[in-house]
Amino acid sequence: MAAPPTPDPTLLAGGPAGPRALRPLVETVLAALADGAAARCGPLPRGGPDAVTRRLLTRYGAALPAQGTGAHDALHSLVTALAEGAADPADPHCAAHLHAPPLAVAAAADLAAAALNPSMDSWDQAPAASVLERHLTGALAALVHPAGPAPDALVTTGGTEANLLGALLARERLGPRLTLVCGANAHHSVRRAAWLLGLPAPLVLPTPTGALDPGAVAAALDRLDAAGAARALVVATAGTTDAGLIDPLPGLADALAAHRARGAAALHVDAAYGGPLLLSDAHRAKVAGLDRADSVTLDLHKLGWQPVAAGLLTVPDTAWLAALTQRADYLNAEDDTEAGLPDLLGRSLRTTRRPDILKIAVTIRALGTTGLAALVDSVCDAARALAALVAAEPRLTLWARPTISTVLFRPAGAADEQVAAIRRRLLAEGRAVLGRACALDAAGRPALWLKATLLNPQAQHSDLAALIKLVLDQADHTTEPEHPEHESPAKDGSR
Ligand SMILES: *Cc1c(COP(=O)(O)O)cnc(C)c1O
Repeated sequence: MAAPPTPDPTLLAGGPAGPRALRPLVETVLAALADGAAARCGPLPRGGPDAVTRRLLTRYGAALPAQGTGAHDALHSLVTALAEGAADPADPHCAAHLHAPPLAVAAAADLAAAALNPSMDSWDQAPAASVLERHLTGALAALVHPAGPAPDALVTTGGTEANLLGALLARERLGPRLTLVCGANAHHSVRRAAWLLGLPAPLVLPTPTGALDPGAVAAALDRLDAAGAARALVVATAGTTDAGLIDPLPGLADALAAHRARGAAALHVDAAYGGPLLLSDAHRAKVAGLDRADSVTLDLHKLGWQPVAAGLLTVPDTAWLAALTQRADYLNAEDDTEAGLPDLLGRSLRTTRRPDILKIAVTIRALGTTGLAALVDSVCDAARALAALVAAEPRLTLWARPTISTVLFRPAGAADEQVAAIRRRLLAEGRAVLGRACALDAAGRPALWLKATLLNPQAQHSDLAALIKLVLDQADHTTEPEHPEHESPAKDGSR
């Protein structure tokens, strides 16, 4: 028989000794975060992929060492390396994607989630966490579907899983031969959902303006009808990934009405980005019509400032979720359920599942819906301010006034290759993280744009002005080859 383990009160995160074990480790983590950020001193590490790989692997050493270095050394070396090599969304010049700087209060709540480790697939692993989840998902769903008979929401890993679930629930309600109808502006996860679910290829409608045209959707539904494939799920977007545009939701809901009356069509709105505008008095009107959707995707790791992951799928009627019911004797035996143990297994496609609801609940309690709305307003204001700076600068072209917090712009008269090169140089030099998007220019020609997705509620006017200056400085240099050591001048498209 093996000797019994020696008690080590510093081994586990939970239990009465957990906090004492965690405190010094958390101090080490915090010191490493500070050291890493100081070493990086910018929105992302300098030198591009090769330099980052070299630095990280030098620090890391063997991936599977036989002898450990101990908790403090491991935490300090790896957290420092990760922070030094991070693209940090808390830096106002890190603005490429819907990649939010998490709130400190939410990150702190996530520590508690990790320490307690409830798993949301059965009541006996998450007694209180499951109550919290039911309570808050119901309230969030009621915000989206105020007239729904029994609004409810499922917690997901993000917009991708929520869109998949939305398509799955529609297929279960409308029947297996379901065609997704979406715009070219829809998120790529919509096409993936159709593929995963074995649905016919989605009908993707062109969106030259960046948003879906209700007339085109009505015509597409008629065409499907005529072809005998009448069951359709229209997927609209409230906050496109490229431009932050919002499809005309009331017009789309109207266009669907005739088909919907025959039970042949449903509306899913992917509001992964724009959903939280609902909280804001200043911006709520932009998502009017969201309440007419049959399901809605929300992503609180975008305009909700949560650490990843914090997605939701909301529905007006909890009964629609019954399609996800699963029986597994070890988790929800029928007699357990009859005896009153809540059955949680049907609340996700996953089994073991983190209590992502905790950080969301803590955030909303800490800030209130008004506090969260103020953050939404501040990033929308920042986008307006950035757009105004761009519009006032003759060397830059603004794509359009921002709808949410995305600003597309490009150096006036630049070739697409120059625009792409500016973005890559800013990345390589560690100066700024800007995104890229294709959209029609004023003459109706497709062009490549720089994309600033503003999600930092602390960004100052001076940060925005400095970002513009960085782009202008790079634009002045784009006549030089991007990789002088690899590329001959003749191959440089900017010449
Ligand atoms: C971000 C985004 C998604 C995907 O969400 P993930 O959380 O990355 O899975 C889907 N749709 C839209 C419109 C998005 O902006």
